Parts: sequence; C-alpha cells; structure tokens
Amino acid sequence: MSYKLLIDGQLVDGAGHIDVINPADETVIAASPIADEALLNAAVAAAKRAQPGWAATPLQERAACLSALAEAAVAHEAELAKLVTLEVGRPLPLAHFELQLVQKSCSFYSQQSLAPEVLHDDEATRIELQRLPLGVVAAILPWNAPLYLAINKLAPAVLAGNCVVLKPAPTSPLSTLKFGELLAKIFPPGVVNIIADRNDLGAALVNHPDIAKVAFTGSTATGMKILQSAAANLKKVTLELSGNDAAILLPDVDIAAIAGDVIFGAFFNSAQICAVIKRLYVHESRYDEICDVLAAGLSQAVMGNGMDPDVMFGPIQNAAQYDKVKGFLEEARETGTIICGGEIPEGKGYFITPTLVRDLSDGHRLVDEEPFGPILPIIKYRDIDDAVARANASPLGLGGSVWSADAEQARAVAERLQAGTVWVNQHCAIDPAIPFPTSKGSGLGVEAGREGLLEYCNLRVMNIKK
Ligand code: NAD
Repeated sequence: MSYKLLIDGQLVDGAGHIDVINPADETVIAASPIADEALLNAAVAAAKRAQPGWAATPLQERAACLSALAEAAVAHEAELAKLVTLEVGRPLPLAHFELQLVQKSCSFYSQQSLAPEVLHDDEATRIELQRLPLGVVAAILPWNAPLYLAINKLAPAVLAGNCVVLKPAPTSPLSTLKFGELLAKIFPPGVVNIIADRNDLGAALVNHPDIAKVAFTGSTATGMKILQSAAANLKKVTLELSGNDAAILLPDVDIAAIAGDVIFGAFFNSAQICAVIKRLYVHESRYDEICDVLAAGLSQAVMGNGMDPDVMFGPIQNAAQYDKVKGFLEEARETGTIICGGEIPEGKGYFITPTLVRDLSDGHRLVDEEPFGPILPIIKYRDIDDAVARANASPLGLGGSVWSADAEQARAVAERLQAGTVWVNQHCAIDPAIPFPTSKGSGLGVEAGREGLLEYCNLRVMNIKK
C-alpha cells in the first residue's frame, strides 16, 4: 500500500520517507512520505487560498461534507481500523471503536447550527452575536489515537468555515494519510491538508504567520512550547495535554463487581491514553484485599499482537516511549512491590506486561508523573479528605473518578475533584458529543461537544441602530 500527503486537494509525494514500525513485531509496515518546509508552506498556502470560499459556502453544504465523511468512514472502517492496529498496536476491536467515534463525531458536528444569536431586538436596535471562522487551523496530533484526535479537531474546524493543515505524529501517520484519501474526494481543494514529518515540522507549523489557531493534543512539555510560540502573533490555541488521573475507591466498593471496569479504566490501550486511571487510591481498611483482587483479575489479561482476536492489551507504541516506560518500571521495582506483571517478554515487540505496584505513595515518580504505559500504582489513603487532597495535589487535571456502591455518595466526593471530567463508577467514558475540557496543567480550552465547536469560532457582535 502506498501513502501520500494531501495538499491542495492533490495526493502528493513527500520530500522524503520514514519507515513506520509495527510496535507488535518491530517490522516495517510501510514508508510514510514526509514533508519539508516547502511542502508545509504549500499546504498552509492552499488552506489560506481555500478559506474565504469555504467560509462563504453555506453551512448546510459544509455539514453535508461531514455527513459524507461519516459514510466514507463506515465504508472504510475495516481498512482504517486495521491500519490503526498495525501502527498503534491497539487490539482490533478497540481500533474499530475508534472508527465508530470518528463516524459519531462527523455526524454530531454535521447537525450543529451556527446561526447568529439575537441578543436584543426592538424598534430601535438589533444586536446579534455571530460566530465566524478563524482562518487556517494547524491541527497537531500525538500517536495514541490518531483518527479520533484528528476528527475531534477537523470536524468542528471545517464546519465553522476554517481550513485545516493536519500533522499526525511521526510514529503513527499511516491511518491519517489513508483517511486523507477519503477527505480528498469529499472536500474542495485546500480545505483539509495533511502533512507528515519526522518530528521536525511542528514548530514551523505553529510559527507560520498564516496560521490563525493551533489545535494541539500531546504532552504538556510540547504544549508549553506551542503556547510560547503562539504568543508572538496571538494565535488562538486549544491544548489537550498530559493527564495523571486519580481514581478514588471509597471504602464501601464492591470490588468483585467493579474490578473489570477499574482494570479497563486504567489499562485501556495499554494505558497510552491521556485520561485513563494513572493513580488508584484505596482505603487502608480494604487495601490488601483490593490489591489481591485486582492482581488476580489483571493476571488473566492476554497481551500480544492486536491483530490476534484474543488479545486485550497491545504493545507500547514506539521505541522511545518503550524506553521511558521501562525506566518507570525499574524505579517501581525498587520503590514499591510489583503484584502483577512487571515483565518484559523476550523477543520482538515493545511489550511490558500490565503491571500493578503497591506499597508506594505520593512523592514517588510513578505516582507524581504520567508514565503513559501499563504500570498502575495503588496507593493507600486514610480518609476521604486525605484522598481528595492527594488526588488534587497533581499539577495536572484532566480526569478523575470516584467509585462506590452508593453513586450519590461517590458524586459528593467527585464534586471535590479538580479535573476537566469527573466520572462516577467509571473512567475514560469518552464521546465526541460530550465536551472534554481541560484544567490546570492538562491544557487550555475544550475539545468535543458543542463547546469544542465554539473553540473554532471568532465571536462578532453586530449592533444595529435601526
Ligand atoms: P508530543 O508532545 O511529544 O508530540 C505530539 C505532537 O507534537 C507530535 O505530532 C509532534 O511531532 C509534535 N511536536 C513536537 N514538538 C513540537 C513543537 N515544538 N511544536 C509543535 N509541535 C511539536 O506527545 P506524544 O508523545 O506524541 O503524546 C503523548 C502525550 O500526549 C501524553 O502526555 C498524553 O497524555 C498526551 N495526550 C493528551 C490527550 C488529551 O486529550 N489531553 C490525548 C492524547 C494524548
């Protein structure tokens, strides 16, 4: 299969290639074309040329393109899901789930209105609040959920009349480039452009003077650099960054009933998701018992190549991340007690068996930082105030959850958590129609839902004296 960049409606060759590696066996899946600054500039110029015409296209026609994209994503679900599994490592059913979220996102945004809001209207005055496009949007993606994170930016951006230059992560560009073939058939030239890179073009894209907004998902460290660059000409930004989500199990939990959901909420995509459980707080009265139940449950997990139908957990997505997570594992071995997993299997593939670590606490790197890999610390707490204070002590604040046999009691504790999303008796339940806000060091702004659409609009007040 060959892959092309998408620039000005044309599927074009890159200025070079990089090999994309299958993390399950370290073989080369395919060569990805990569852009240079000239191709980046061509993509931004195409978006800039197309944008006034696209903004003038009636909303219904822009929405119809999204409906067509939803249909195309259904028609190509099998092919795209397979590519996601090959390059990300995620088990195939979860790659299909990602494609279903893509379809849902397109459908959701295709039904949104951007009609002006009438704030005041009488014989003397009419005041309207209008929502206008920003211009050209740079959408920059991480490697863990390429198509879902792409559509969460692309769909609201284009519905609002913006044009887009999309840059996938260097280790998982293939599904996005293949998706580009569908986009090329549906959108007018220049409305959506896709360039890939060797992790060297993000800064140039952010700094480009014709970019009006940067929509970024990735690490907090990169997000901070983007914010600094964007300040130079006051670009708008949405930053969806790192998370270190705490889950608090209240003393009354029925651990047998929830163990599967807790494990899934922590190890989904081998924990390479911003908003999975990364710190598990368990009351001291139940600590030993709950550690044992979770260890017994997780030890049943089947790890392996995501193309294998029995596999629940795949590999770490890339070699650099694999090294980073192995570093966390070594420290966890020294500072805590590994009660499940902790093995690095022989042979090819970036695998670490899903790992639970007990007997360590706040102040250890595994608790204070995001490993972004399958190692979960289980931390003992004394009372609810103690658990809430420790959950909130993180500089990050993406998600959090509270679990109890009594949902109302859990909700009361959840109300005290500082996070963009707080779940009760579940974690990481995401939906493109539900806003996914950020808080504290986890970002700026919101993606998904109606609020995610409004992030791609300039407000203008039309104040008319009759
Ligand atoms: P990363 O920050 O290293 O890279 C993300 C993207 O930014 C890549 O496309 C990269 O090429 C690009 N980039 C690198 N340097 C840049 C620069 N100076 N300017 C502009 N772009 C630049 O992140 P990653 O390692 O790919 O992803 C993992 C991180 O993403 C984790 O911290 C995770 O929590 C976070 N994440 C957050 C969310 C969310 O919704 N909040 C979702 C998924 C992942």
